[in-house]
Amino acid sequence: MQAALALLRGRGHRVTAPRRRVLEAVGRLEGHPDVTEVHAAVQELGATHLATTYRALEHLCAAGILTHVHLDHAPARYHFSAEVTGAGPEHAHAACRGCGAVLDLPVEVLSPVREHLAARGYEPHLGHTALSVTCPDCAPGQGTSPDRARG
Ligand SMILES: [Zn+2]
Ligand SMILES: [Zn+2]
Ligand SMILES: [Zn+2]
Repeated sequence: MQAALALLRGRGHRVTAPRRRVLEAVGRLEGHPDVTEVHAAVQELGATHLATTYRALEHLCAAGILTHVHLDHAPARYHFSAEVTGAGPEHAHAACRGCGAVLDLPVEVLSPVREHLAARGYEPHLGHTALSVTCPDCAPGQGTSPDRARG
């Protein structure tokens, strides 16, 4: 939260009340909240219109403070960028098309995809959209899932 505010100011952006609330809300929420979840947490900090929360999310993404990932058939999810968390390069995601569970993937697992595209002059944005998967819990005929996805 403090790192996010410092980075936002350092990049010459104003720290408005909605932006501060959105950052605080994302800091409070675990995992990968969507705009509805962020907005609910923002509302606990002060009455805000949904459109204002949206604009603040977009602004904070454009400023590189937050990142988002698009999911198959579901609203985008948000979290702090790697620059804020200091947790290395951005990660990639897999999202279950059944239950919506989001699994973080190290971006290196997609290295062959990156190399294939780079050799043809394409720059992939591997963290921007999630791979569409079926998780063990949603796979037909599966009882238990020893390796249940978190985060
Ligand atoms: Zn699932
Ligand atoms: Zn993630
Ligand atoms: Zn996007």
